[in-house]
Amino acid sequence: MTAASPCLSAAESAFRDGLFDAIPFPAYVVDIATREIISVNRAMHSRTEATAGDTCHWAIYRQEAPCNFCKAATPGNAPRVYEHFNDRDECWYQIHETQLTWYDGRTVMHSIAVDIGKLKDAQNESAEAYALLALKSMELERASITDALTGLFNRRRLDQAFDYELVRASRYNVPLSVIIADIDRFKSINDTHGHQTGDQVLQKIADILRHGVRTVDTVGRWGGEEFLIICPETDLEGARALAEKLRGLIEEATFPAVGRNTTSFGIADYHVDETLKDLVARADAALYRAKVGGRNRVEG
Ligand code: GH3
Ligand code: MG
Ligand code: MG
Repeated sequence: MTAASPCLSAAESAFRDGLFDAIPFPAYVVDIATREIISVNRAMHSRTEATAGDTCHWAIYRQEAPCNFCKAATPGNAPRVYEHFNDRDECWYQIHETQLTWYDGRTVMHSIAVDIGKLKDAQNESAEAYALLALKSMELERASITDALTGLFNRRRLDQAFDYELVRASRYNVPLSVIIADIDRFKSINDTHGHQTGDQVLQKIADILRHGVRTVDTVGRWGGEEFLIICPETDLEGARALAEKLRGLIEEATFPAVGRNTTSFGIADYHVDETLKDLVARADAALYRAKVGGRNRVEG
């Protein structure tokens, strides 16, 4: 549908309209000086009911004034392609705009609006799926290094921390210490009060350790009722002071149903070139001494 043009014969106009109607997407031509629609194809007319002679922003978008994004009134614009969400029909379009000189000499904007709603839906779905996947993998990553009962790091994460800290300690020759903590007579808590109460004691002691260490320390559950703390840049005396502090905090805490409870500690500092196994074995031996020495003690 095109306003009659004095420059074209009826046959030429019909041919041009036929070509225009063959475009399967809404297409239209606007006089950029007046914003009058000069031509709309069939797809455009059936979607918007716009017709030649209408003002474009009203006919297409039901806007009283020219649309904010419109570049039609700026002559000399290079062809451009952009995506636009039409509030009127709530559809996404990819708009292809080209400035042309019309048959009668007017500067016009030729626009083709490709409906990309399905593409946008697919894009949104894949973005959502990607975000969900990223979230899931973060959750999985967190779960894979966390002990489910206490929320502390698990053995796997402690091993990772050891890999890093041992290399750092030997390369830069800085001290490194470990503390192993083992709850005293924990079996009798389970036996007397039940496994659930035992779990609560584990959780509370885990919280005390978590809040009692420095942020650079790594604290995790080493096994059953044993915890391990890696203390970077800490010598044996520093580790002893920290373990004493933690021992005192646990001794002073009250545990529901159980009342008081104590924990024994074994400490060891890293000797250059020893293996992780050696270091932990020395801390374990110190813990054993604390147990035989009467429990509720720090040895190292
Ligand atoms: P000691 O003072 O010599 O360390 O004595 P203990 O009773 O603490 O040591 P023992 O190794 O005999 O017992 C440890 C107990 O910890 C036995 C086991 O059932 C319990 N335990 C291990 N993991 C869990 C857990 O996740 N929850 C509960 N409730 N108990 C656990
Ligand atoms: Mg034990
Ligand atoms: Mg124990």
